[in-house]
Amino acid sequence: MTGDELVAEAGGLDAGDPLASFRNEFVAAEPNLVYADGNSLGRLPKAAVELAHDLVTRQWGERLIRGWNDDWLDLPERMGAKIAGLIGADPDEVIIADSTTVNLFKLSVAALQARPGRTGIVSDDLNFPSDLHSLAQSAQLLGQGHELDVVESQDGISVAAASIAEVVSAETALVCLSHVVFKSGFRHDLRELTEVAHRRGALMLWDLSHSVGSVPIDLHAADVDLAVGCTYKYLNGGPGAPAFLYVRRDLQEQLSNPLAGWMGRASMFDFDLSYEPAAGMRRFLTGTPAVLSLAMMEPGLDLVAAAGIDRLRQKSIALCEFFVRLWRSELEPLGYRLQSPLDPGQRGSHLSLGHDDGLAIDLALIEELAVIPDFRAPDNIRLGFAPLYTSFADVAELASRLSQVVVEGRQAKYRVSYRRSTSRPTVT
Ligand SMILES: *Cc1c(COP(=O)(O)O)cnc(C)c1O
Repeated sequence: MTGDELVAEAGGLDAGDPLASFRNEFVAAEPNLVYADGNSLGRLPKAAVELAHDLVTRQWGERLIRGWNDDWLDLPERMGAKIAGLIGADPDEVIIADSTTVNLFKLSVAALQARPGRTGIVSDDLNFPSDLHSLAQSAQLLGQGHELDVVESQDGISVAAASIAEVVSAETALVCLSHVVFKSGFRHDLRELTEVAHRRGALMLWDLSHSVGSVPIDLHAADVDLAVGCTYKYLNGGPGAPAFLYVRRDLQEQLSNPLAGWMGRASMFDFDLSYEPAAGMRRFLTGTPAVLSLAMMEPGLDLVAAAGIDRLRQKSIALCEFFVRLWRSELEPLGYRLQSPLDPGQRGSHLSLGHDDGLAIDLALIEELAVIPDFRAPDNIRLGFAPLYTSFADVAELASRLSQVVVEGRQAKYRVSYRRSTSRPTVT
């Protein structure tokens, strides 16, 4: 395909895109930048700029401690309710607190304690390392002989549901997986694997960090017990924005928060020395929330809700399929390997390309060609297609710059520098 044909086709796809105008709701400080990392840090909504000003100058500056009564105290539930609408949960089943890792720790310990006598925890090696660290620590901390069984992927891209089903047994207390895995973008079947856990009497805990905001999720339909997830990726909540946790209503009173604190106590302002957990999801709170970050997630959540998760998913598939076609015709001949499932039904909204020169290419794209992908060892150039603001023109431009790097041999310089020096940036 010639460059002109490609531009024309992308232009046609953008013209027919019902979500095209959402791009204008985000700050785009560098018009030439191709941002392919919305799965790691979503863009800044313009409305969040205004809100930040109001939060700091009026809410904090003028209202001072009265802000807690105005809005701050209710924020964990109010933002949680907005997320509930995106994941097929009821508003009172989701709350915002801490980070994803901390929430995973809280819910995994709570789940293990709710299944006494069972010592198995099942996950897979495509899961996010932080999740596995946290699960291993939960197992050790309880001192009851819990063991983490990590199912291995055969191809580094996917794990078959049957391989997980094989190791879930009557000893299993908890199955914990990432819905969409962070490296390859492979998507587990939420309903099928939840059923696998339930059939053996285990609880199921899903990490939705890489799917929420880009893939329709129906926790009720899948009868999911527990879930956690991130708000700074496809939800555009801002760097380090706090995370959410979901507990199915009938389980809420059965589970206890291993990180008990005053924010999760019934009538917290009694300052009573005894701990009585609050009713409902508030019991999963620990200490004072990061109000500024928590409040800042609202504009991003509202944009995702306005776009509608079904339309976002449709566009996400179209963006990825467009890219896969360009990969086949332009990039595969240059040594790029697709390290993600080919079937869109088995993917989230990002794709990984492997290349023998992966890291050097990643660095050349960032330094010289105004492309921001990210890199996940050993050789994955990870490309996020955040459907809320990524255009088909971006996808065409991305493919053409990926091609340009290799055709012009621009990676050579970086191959040397990262091997020899400390110039490799910490975040790539
Ligand atoms: C991004 C991500 C996290 C992030 O966890 P933090 O505690 O916010 O650092 C956790 N799990 C998965 C699967 C992720 O993709």
